[in-house]
Amino acid sequence: MSKEVRVRFAPSPTGGLHLGGVRTALFNYLFAKKHNGTFILRVEDTDQTRFVEGAEQYIVDCLEWCGISPDESPQKPGDFGPYRQSERKPSYRQYAEQLVASGYAYYAFDTSEELTAKRAQEPNFLYGQKSRMQMRNSLTLTQSEVSELLAQNTPHVIRIKMPTDEQITFTDMIRGMVSFETNLVDDKVLLKADGMPTYHLAVVVDDRAMEISHIFRGEEWLPSAPIHILLWKYLGWADEMPAWAHLPLILKPDGNGKLSKRDGDRLGFPVYAMNWTDPKTGDLTKGFKELGFMPEAFVNLLGVLGWNDGTDKEIFTLEELKAAFSVERISKAGAKFDFEKAKWFNHEWIKQSPVYSLQLTVGTLLKQSGIEVKDEKLTEVIELVKDRCTLLPDFVTQTAYFFTAPTEFDSAAVKPKWNADKAAFFEEFAGKFDIELNALELETSFKTLAEAHGLKPGEVMLPLRIALVGGKFGPGVFDIVKLLGKEETQNRIAKGIAEFNS
Ligand code: GLU
Repeated sequence: MSKEVRVRFAPSPTGGLHLGGVRTALFNYLFAKKHNGTFILRVEDTDQTRFVEGAEQYIVDCLEWCGISPDESPQKPGDFGPYRQSERKPSYRQYAEQLVASGYAYYAFDTSEELTAKRAQEPNFLYGQKSRMQMRNSLTLTQSEVSELLAQNTPHVIRIKMPTDEQITFTDMIRGMVSFETNLVDDKVLLKADGMPTYHLAVVVDDRAMEISHIFRGEEWLPSAPIHILLWKYLGWADEMPAWAHLPLILKPDGNGKLSKRDGDRLGFPVYAMNWTDPKTGDLTKGFKELGFMPEAFVNLLGVLGWNDGTDKEIFTLEELKAAFSVERISKAGAKFDFEKAKWFNHEWIKQSPVYSLQLTVGTLLKQSGIEVKDEKLTEVIELVKDRCTLLPDFVTQTAYFFTAPTEFDSAAVKPKWNADKAAFFEEFAGKFDIELNALELETSFKTLAEAHGLKPGEVMLPLRIALVGGKFGPGVFDIVKLLGKEETQNRIAKGIAEFNS
């Protein structure tokens, strides 16, 4: 690769960050890291009407949680700032004017009332080749009329003049050759009446100013590509144009269309990376983080959404993704999002994570649930239950009983078959079991004693579990005994007997 690799994630700070957005950021990041390049966060906030307080910081936090923080950003400026488009406002007009001067764009003075009236008359109205000569713009007005309107500061926009009968063809790194008919594209606004650029102008001006080498963005931006390509050409920058890559869409679970936040709400799973609270309505939308996803798992599942390394391998660390990532293996087809599969990734990640890396998170979760954690016990407890946890909060249910004796028992599972013989057996067992034995030896001694009492071991295992844990869950019951220790086990058995006798 000749040019230095510089890529950007360019979100508009308008609300929660959709997992598709995180995947775009991730692929940019992976490509940059693979090629010793630079990963940039550029905040595209030129549409002041859509600006949402707090949304930029939220995006920064999401990237940080995922472990893919940018090398250059508003928070960490490099040599190409500012990194917020609103702060770059003075840099755009000159290019819009340059396009007007060279005949590739024109001033349009139509008021919003006039445009609304036109749209009411013609529901499919497009401001473009067929209609532009009937509108109030510098193509239909005389030069002196235009000069006068400009001198009077008449509100106006600058529109691109889409050429007639041309084909815009370019090579997309993922899709190969892509062609568009210019006749089907309208004369998009480049500079708005408030002097702010629209997305189309700003994205091209900034991608050049920031020396972006490759553009990875969602497929939903593909229809905008011909406008951007023309702008690169019309501004005289064709030689500097970055390479394009439009990432496949993330689809609804049934494959029918793009996954939206509403699909998540409807089907009961998150779509945003982290919790997002709308500052205007106060509405909270749950995110993957707060639901109990590990960032490693979240990044892993996004990394293989529309990409694979050519083998069946599914579990990747971020380091492994960096090493294996290749644009050639990004698929053209949309990738279906499957929440059950997402949970599977998290489960695998919890299973394979060393205890020390889970300790802080699990300890915090337990404390938040009001459980008094004995730190010396925590590591052993995590080791024992981690294979049973799919989401991080599962650790709370799976471990709480190690720290606090159950107060509720699933007695219904025991009582119908409970009798004095069993009570006597438990009393004897509790009185004499040897805590120094290992779990397997304890189990053998338990079973031998049960047989001596004329009981089938299978009949007394469940009451033991319910006395210790409260319900029918948890790891091997003698592992639990070992961890609870002699005295606690004795207390719980005694309480269990009383409960089952009552
Ligand atoms: N501002 C656009 C967005 O919100 C960026 C599209 C692009 O990467 O060109 O996604």
